[in-house]
Amino acid sequence: MFRLELTGALCISCGLCRDVCTRNAIGMRTSARQGVERHSGVCARPKYETFPFLATPEECDGCLECVRECPVSAIAIRARRSLALARMTSTEIVNNPG
Ligand code: SF4
Ligand code: SF4
Repeated sequence: MFRLELTGALCISCGLCRDVCTRNAIGMRTSARQGVERHSGVCARPKYETFPFLATPEECDGCLECVRECPVSAIAIRARRSLALARMTSTEIVNNPG
């Protein structure tokens, strides 16, 4: 399984990553980007933009086409650690590497 990491400050919401995904694993959703435009210390109202997310992670095969096509290098696809490993404490991981 994979997870999508997005650098929201770079993403221009073009949707290219979603469009090139042949497995339709990426969706777009609207999120508030709070306080992006600040003037004289006054917080602007939240700005709503559309960002990609891994809508169906089980469909993602890690091909990285979305990463290659992103014009601003805002997206990364990373392998998820297995559930079993995630449940281990840090001490157990140190004692059971690999
Ligand atoms: S890595 Fe490939 S399959 Fe996964 S979301 Fe990106 S384009 Fe789709
Ligand atoms: S991550 Fe890249 S390709 Fe995807 S919407 Fe943002 S800018 Fe476009």
